[in-house]
Amino acid sequence: MAKTIQSIRGMHDILPEQSAAWQYLESTVRQLLARYSYREIRTPIVEVTELFKRAVGEVTDIVEKEMYTFEDRNGESLSLRPEGTASCVRAGIEHGLFYNQQQRIWYTGPMFRHERPQKGRYRQFHQVGVEAFGIASPDIDAELIAISARLWQELGLKNVRLELNSLGTPASRAVYREKLIEYFSAHLDALDEEAKQRLHSNPLRILDTKHPATRLIADAAPSLHDYLDPESKQHFEQLCNMLEAMGIPYRINPRLVRGLDYYSRTVFEWITEELGSQGTICAGGRYDGLVSQMGGQETPACGFAMGMERLLELMQTQEQTLNAVAPDLYLVLAGEHASATGIVLAEKLRTELPKLKLQVNAGGGSIKTQMKRADKSGARYALILGEQELAAGTIGFKPMQDAAIEQVSLKLTELSHYLASKFN
Ligand code: ATP
Ligand code: MG
Repeated sequence: MAKTIQSIRGMHDILPEQSAAWQYLESTVRQLLARYSYREIRTPIVEVTELFKRAVGEVTDIVEKEMYTFEDRNGESLSLRPEGTASCVRAGIEHGLFYNQQQRIWYTGPMFRHERPQKGRYRQFHQVGVEAFGIASPDIDAELIAISARLWQELGLKNVRLELNSLGTPASRAVYREKLIEYFSAHLDALDEEAKQRLHSNPLRILDTKHPATRLIADAAPSLHDYLDPESKQHFEQLCNMLEAMGIPYRINPRLVRGLDYYSRTVFEWITEELGSQGTICAGGRYDGLVSQMGGQETPACGFAMGMERLLELMQTQEQTLNAVAPDLYLVLAGEHASATGIVLAEKLRTELPKLKLQVNAGGGSIKTQMKRADKSGARYALILGEQELAAGTIGFKPMQDAAIEQVSLKLTELSHYLASKFN
């Protein structure tokens, strides 16, 4: 027999049993973003490599070691996108979207990074990204954070905390950068190899090291906050005030620096302790310099991206997916007569109750078999129609998730009225 072919390591199929949860998450996000008046942009999955080198930065993990880069048949270097902001900026400049106007946009889709696969870290993964262009004031930083906070609430997610920092302007950061190089140079012997390599290329990244010895040194490093320029300080204070006014708790983390070079001022992450070491479900911030760096006119910008696999993982851990995707009702049909009647009854219910999620038993089976299928479907209730019920003009209604509650008998003529009060 021929050897079977498998998917690429770190790249996964989303199977039928998982896709309902994905669709639920995607549609919740979609509806929420529409309520905030953000519009979707769809860009190609492949771009010229130069785009990511320039937008993400040559000395970042992504560009240094994580990109899927190849030559196409014309010899041009192309890359699978590792993130979405670069493409948004490229498209915005190319189509004049930033020209004296504000843009609130979002995107979703697969991203590709050649990392070591582990829980919450894959080589193909999915992000939803939200970006606002042309707005320099902290009200838009606050709006973006409010969107993410509301999303967790709508998904029923608990125990996620917001960490916040300001990186200042590139000019104030340059001063800090020198201080940092000076400081780390004085502790050179205690630094790990990676940190030594980063010392001159990207010393701020050493601040979020996971290496224990370097961690100790980094914890005692000078704080970026002491080097913030006055405008950045004010921007940050205003943002904090708005978050407080909206009742969104946050924690200032002066060590939060983010991996990408293009950030300025606000940076934030949403973190959970419930996913092990891959606990960041959403990350973002302000990147005022990027559009002009990419050849567009000076355009302030702010945005975030969330990792869909990590979000789904957290939803599963907190049991927030099952109810969201399971049918409300499973219709059990015992006997030939009931089967024929049941399919008509189901269509009638679907017409009368457009929001009802109803799964009808198909392919026969004993009541026991059908109840097992009902259980597996995750339905909250079973409707049971047998010969006896048909003769009496009734139907059984049984809660599936609480064995203590008895089955009740409902009149068929009153069924949709009863269900409407429960499900619509
Ligand atoms: P990390 O520090 O975990 O590597 P990052 O800083 O590289 O994250 P970003 O580029 O900011 O991540 O991407 C935004 C979000 O996308 C992350 O917070 C995370 O939820 C998700 N994400 C990033 N890389 C992966 C991956 N390889 N697999 C799954 N999700 C990912
Ligand atoms: Mg990474």
